[in-house]
Amino acid sequence: MTLEEKVGKTLAELGVTDAQGVESLFAEVRAAMEAERQPLVSQGVPEGDREKTCKALRDRWLARKGGLISLVDENWLKRSPKELKPVVGRHFNELRQFSSRMELERLLKDVPAQQRRAVEDDAGQHWQDAVPIDLRPDLTLPGYRRPLGSIHPVTRVMREIEDIFLGLGFSIETGPEVETVSYNFDKLNIPETHPARDDWDTLYVDEQTVLRTHTSPVQIRAMEKRGAPLYIIMPGKCYRHDNPDSTHSPMFHQIEGLAVDTDITFADLKGTLDFFAKKFFGEKVRTRFSPSFFPFTEPSGEVSISCVFCDAKGCRVCKESGWIEVMGCGMVHPEVLHHGGIDPEKYSGWAFGLGIDRYAMLKYDINDIQLFFQSDVRFLEQF
Ligand SMILES: [Zn+2]
Repeated sequence: MTLEEKVGKTLAELGVTDAQGVESLFAEVRAAMEAERQPLVSQGVPEGDREKTCKALRDRWLARKGGLISLVDENWLKRSPKELKPVVGRHFNELRQFSSRMELERLLKDVPAQQRRAVEDDAGQHWQDAVPIDLRPDLTLPGYRRPLGSIHPVTRVMREIEDIFLGLGFSIETGPEVETVSYNFDKLNIPETHPARDDWDTLYVDEQTVLRTHTSPVQIRAMEKRGAPLYIIMPGKCYRHDNPDSTHSPMFHQIEGLAVDTDITFADLKGTLDFFAKKFFGEKVRTRFSPSFFPFTEPSGEVSISCVFCDAKGCRVCKESGWIEVMGCGMVHPEVLHHGGIDPEKYSGWAFGLGIDRYAMLKYDINDIQLFFQSDVRFLEQF
């Protein structure tokens, strides 16, 4: 039985004979009223239909003639048996109060105009008209400013090193990161039996091609291209078959320097690198050269600086020695000059190589190389 049918009958016809029956009957009416009103209040009605919809709902419930409330009055209250009248009267008064929410003014206040969906914009609708004024974007507000990035610490240190050597009259040379075995090893006097050529150390693309393991092939390429005299530095990425840990990364950055001229001696090498170390690490820094071996230099050496963290007294960073190893160097092997097309009888040269990542770690006291390559903004925005 629909609600309309129910309110068209008397209580007796509905079989309601006691107070409890009356109560549940009126509860049913209130629930029905709320069920019709609530969706409109929560979802809204399209702007154009709003007044019409509210009016129709109000008339259905509150119209003096034929409205649901007046039918309740007519059929349930006025025609109720005498003994039930007080109960029905009480419930009817409550219902009348409750039904005030169906008055037109109240409905127009509670039922919002529905916001049109974005897809309707394409149909050329004036969507602004459907959006209450306080929900529209304020076009006069300034836009969102994107935060500016900063220079990566490795790039920063690379540029700093470059600047020192550019000031000494060196120029910058670059070369391919995918390199031939010939340039990466053969021409640098690194024999077939050298452990560096092992699969474990080198990432091979195919038998004759590698990801360069150092920036040294650029030395050969530059000698071939430009001849002597030559004063260059070669910054760039290098690759080795290393498992990532706090001091190793399969991709890292190197910078090498090369000076080729007549009458170049080891004294020139020492003077230049000592100057560089003082420029980069501070005037107080002392340098120490110790013998070493590289296939492409003869003699070869390693450069250490007095520890910048403990002033050479001994600490965690310098492993209590007071010295930190910072680069390898040496006089260019005559074979290497020869492979670069330069006459070793006429010219001599020196070279050095250092790891930029390690310099950045020293400079900023960073103890894990992986931090450079994880792109964690919390780390990077400190620079
Ligand atoms: Zn120290």
